[in-house]
Amino acid sequence: MTTTASTTNLPIAETFASIQGEGKLTGVPSWFIRVAGCNLRCTWCDTPYTSWSPQGASRTVDDLVEEALTSGLKHAVLTGGEPMLFPAIAPLAERLSAAGMHTTMETAGTVDQDLRVDLMSLSPKLSNSTPSQRQDGKFAAEHEARRINTPVLQELLRRGEDVQLKFVVQYPSDLREIEALLKTLHDWNPGDVLLMPQGYQGEPSEALRKLLVSACLSHGWRYCDRLHIRLFGNTRGT
Ligand code: SF4
Repeated sequence: MTTTASTTNLPIAETFASIQGEGKLTGVPSWFIRVAGCNLRCTWCDTPYTSWSPQGASRTVDDLVEEALTSGLKHAVLTGGEPMLFPAIAPLAERLSAAGMHTTMETAGTVDQDLRVDLMSLSPKLSNSTPSQRQDGKFAAEHEARRINTPVLQELLRRGEDVQLKFVVQYPSDLREIEALLKTLHDWNPGDVLLMPQGYQGEPSEALRKLLVSACLSHGWRYCDRLHIRLFGNTRGT
């Protein structure tokens, strides 16, 4: 894991313009800033170049703000990796917002920084993410200990202008985990909860899609697709 206490620089894996593919703002043209570095190692991570093998270059907040504004886009998405690991994410979010960009923070909600954004997008990781079968399971215990931090999740829910809770679902038992976690949290509405079928190894099965549809219908939750994969394939920079 790459970490830095810098308040002026961030390790950046990539920046790019694309269409937001997940969540409440699906379809919105956006400028993405993706940090390199994560405190988790999800077994199905779709950006392993930010987690299992972080690759990136140090860039300044000044540089990132200028580039984002030059894009001409109105929405900025701070993602990773785990952006909240890096103190410089707070001034970056603040300056993008002050410049008039709508700002989304994509975080697993395990660590906090003192910042406010327009959309706090939380993706708490369920037990299906634990890498028990990868690299002889040597990261499994650490991942398991870190993946849910209820006080941080609650604080971020409280602070977001708008919030969403995105869950990657793989097994029927995941739904019980979601229900149990949601019972410990407040400051959310059913329409803030989005279920995304686990799709790391290709299209989710029909049975999994039906499971999610049924759960959404019975709880008032939302089904979350991955529009960017449909539009561009599973490629970097999209
Ligand atoms: S939290 Fe996100 S970036 Fe980190 S390992 Fe999990 S899926 Fe990958």
